[in-house]
Amino acid sequence: MPEVFEELQWKKFPVGSDGFVCLVDVMGNDSSVVQAARVSYGKGTKKVSDDRTLIRYLLRHRHTTPFEMAEVKLLVRVPMDCWRQWIRHRTANVNEYSTRYSEAIDAAQTTPPDQWRTQAASNRQGSGDPLPVDVGERLTAAETELQQGVRKAYDERLEAGVAREQARKDLPLCTYTEAYWKIDLHNLLHFLSLRMDSHAQLEIREFATAIGHEIVKPLFPVVWEAFEDYRLGAAFFTRLEIGVVSRLMATAAADSTAPPYSEEAFLAAQDPTWIDLKRCRERDECRGKLEAMGILAPA
Ligand SMILES: Cc1cc2nc3c(=O)[nH]c(=O)nc-3n(C[C@H](O)[C@H](O)[C@H](O)COP(=O)(O)OP(=O)(O)OC[C@H]3O[C@@H](n4cnc5c(N)ncnc54)[C@H](O)[C@@H]3O)c2cc1C
Repeated sequence: MPEVFEELQWKKFPVGSDGFVCLVDVMGNDSSVVQAARVSYGKGTKKVSDDRTLIRYLLRHRHTTPFEMAEVKLLVRVPMDCWRQWIRHRTANVNEYSTRYSEAIDAAQTTPPDQWRTQAASNRQGSGDPLPVDVGERLTAAETELQQGVRKAYDERLEAGVAREQARKDLPLCTYTEAYWKIDLHNLLHFLSLRMDSHAQLEIREFATAIGHEIVKPLFPVVWEAFEDYRLGAAFFTRLEIGVVSRLMATAAADSTAPPYSEEAFLAAQDPTWIDLKRCRERDECRGKLEAMGILAPA
């Protein structure tokens, strides 16, 4: 474990056009979680299999406090639009680069021509397909001009003697910030489950994925395995959705049919409160889960 830490410490994992995540310090490892859970013994059992079983039990049943006994401190460099989302996670300790004290970091998040995304049709918060590259080329050229223009105005203000705290006011969301970010393992996993999820914005998802795969996974391999099994790769079923599955199965048993079931069968089994709704997000979410499991035929 110390070797893993030494290998990772201060290593900058690049994210996006000029961002990174970097491990500064860590307190604890998989055994710290076990030790906390078995407080009466003082030490975790020596059998790795027992430790693994316990960690998996704790994570599966949301016995969360043992995971708070480990902590991770990162140095991150993130564009302001991601940082605005990141900083909503209130359970971390943060010390951020000050643009009152120092000049703003001279780097901007840039977008290659093939990476502009359309507005998603189904999800008001999300992105859809990529835009055509010829359109992207125009947008990227305009982006470069805009970013350079804003930076020039900022530099001119500083040269004219304007205070840094005032000169910065027109800097855009593509400007990078840096921060030390320290968080316990329980709240880090919560952050990762929200920000690695497909509903999170792609840019912050890339940061969260780098933290998860490059840093948390090697530092806490057993916790990570359980996290993948019981959070990242798991699905949550509501009471209504369980009702849908039960009705689908009952009809299938009566008719001797096998999955994947049709859209008609799904609609016949849907929750009674959804029936009169033309558009129903809950019904769509249920359909998505059943499709992913092969219970329904893909739309
Ligand atoms: C896909 C997505 C879309 C989002 N869209 C929006 C949006 O449109 N607008 C918007 O404003 N935000 C939005 N958010 C932010 C979201 O509402 C949360 O603020 C953010 O994800 C932080 O989550 P959290 O509060 O659980 O995390 P943390 O702040 O890390 O807190 C962790 C947990 O600690 C507890 N906790 C912490 N502080 C308190 C407190 N003061 N009181 C009670 N319990 C507390 C809670 O149990 C909480 O879940 C979005 C988030 C995601 C992932």
